[in-house]
Amino acid sequence: MADHSDCIFCRIIRKELPCSVVFEDEAVLAFLDIGPLAEGHLLVIPKQHHAKVSDVPTDVMAAVAAHFPSLGRALLAVTGATGFNILANEGKVAGQEVGHVHFHLIPRAAGDGLGYRWNPTEYASGRMGELATKYREVLGEDA
Ligand code: 5GP
Ligand code: ZN
Repeated sequence: MADHSDCIFCRIIRKELPCSVVFEDEAVLAFLDIGPLAEGHLLVIPKQHHAKVSDVPTDVMAAVAAHFPSLGRALLAVTGATGFNILANEGKVAGQEVGHVHFHLIPRAAGDGLGYRWNPTEYASGRMGELATKYREVLGEDA
């Protein structure tokens, strides 16, 4: 549907649903996540509807990302967090529940218990080079 009337974040953008706005301009909205992983957890979204990061035009993404530094500084000042994670979930397998692209800014503090199981693996000899070559080939068609 052209106005994405079934999209909860488009409805928030149109002010049909309430949210706690922290920043808004013509292209971007930042607001408090209703189910925070930590107090002050923000969502940053483009006003243009795109389902996933991989759908977003470069200029729209640039407009969103341009606000990460100032929003991050505000988050640190407001919450007293000593760091934050910027996270986007791409697709159901990665935990995406809302089909309007969004970035989480999640306040972090020592011992908060948040975080991924971060279990690094190792490449077989030569595999990194192969993968990098494939990436460059694919990106060459979509740079
Ligand atoms: P996802 O799992 O798609 O990356 O994250 C969706 C996020 O949107 C969740 O953290 C959830 O709490 C938040 N969310 C879902 N519905 C609403 C809403 O109506 N208002 C606000 N402020 N946040 C929402
Ligand atoms: Zn939408």
